[in-house]
Amino acid sequence: MPSPAVLYLTPPEELAALWPDEPAYRADQLHHWLYQSPVLDPDEMTNIPAGLRAELTLWPFDLEVEQLADGGRTVKWLMRAPDGASIEAVLMGYPRRTTLCISSQAGCAMACTFCATGQFGFERHLQAGEIVAQVAYAAAYLNANGLADSPARVTNVVFMGMGEPLANYANVKTSIDRMTSDMGLSARSITVSTVGVAPAIRRLAAEPWRVNLAVSLHAADDELRSRLVPLNRRYPLAELIDATEYFVNETGRRASLEWTLIAGTNDTMKQADKLARIARRLRAHINVIALNPTPLTADRPPGPGATARFIERLRAAGANVTLRDTRGQDIDAACGQLRARAVTAGA
Ligand code: SF4
Repeated sequence: MPSPAVLYLTPPEELAALWPDEPAYRADQLHHWLYQSPVLDPDEMTNIPAGLRAELTLWPFDLEVEQLADGGRTVKWLMRAPDGASIEAVLMGYPRRTTLCISSQAGCAMACTFCATGQFGFERHLQAGEIVAQVAYAAAYLNANGLADSPARVTNVVFMGMGEPLANYANVKTSIDRMTSDMGLSARSITVSTVGVAPAIRRLAAEPWRVNLAVSLHAADDELRSRLVPLNRRYPLAELIDATEYFVNETGRRASLEWTLIAGTNDTMKQADKLARIARRLRAHINVIALNPTPLTADRPPGPGATARFIERLRAAGANVTLRDTRGQDIDAACGQLRARAVTAGA
């Protein structure tokens, strides 16, 4: 019987072995509920006998915090694994898509100076099932509640929550295998973001599925980047740009460059000019997002005037750039911020 097994931690191909005395179609029914039409509560699995349902443990975490914002278009969850590891996910609704931002690690070892998660350090890698369960939980939530003015299903998944996905390669790879084969998500709707693990970017280019790559650049020369993103000392910009170019050429997919704008640090015209040069070489789109300030660092976003000047400079240099909205500022929606609030509040 499956009572000791946590279903999302059980590989789909092993579901049948959980119920050796049940007919084979039981595993297919379970697979349907877990991956095609997820539900928040096992009792909603109406074609599974009540006795079996009572013994199911669906989620590998408890929901600790749920926050709604942006007029019901954003919902953020802080989940807690039995060992205490924290997992954050944010669901953002738009008119034609519903994007889920998921975590790949509890905490993060990369120690980016402006990031709340980076200030707490690394807890552990998330297992593939814990990553997939975030997607299933969001799908189940949407099935039950929907999200204002947006599709009631997860249309896009971005690995931009807590953690560096390419530092947890095997689990991220398995989770993408499951999302694309079991959950029906197309690789084109999945984005893996990295702060610059150059060898893993090359490895990603060889996978059978072709996901989108988002490179979190934040600085366009080694001096500044090594200060903001310590991993740059290991994989300097030239190496990161080469690996990204390789990914783009091998996969035919586009890369995007992510730029968290920090007042007085990386919002200068000099940085804009260097960033535009990198973007032109990679034929990459630039996403600029104003820093969502945290109580843990002194960094702040620039004002609207400085942000507009930075964007204008990039455009004048021929770069394609989008200023992203900072979703959920009233609910601590930057990566690691919900956890930061819980910790600083002594929760
Ligand atoms: S910005 Fe991303 S890679 Fe850097 S510390 Fe935060 S979670 Fe880790």
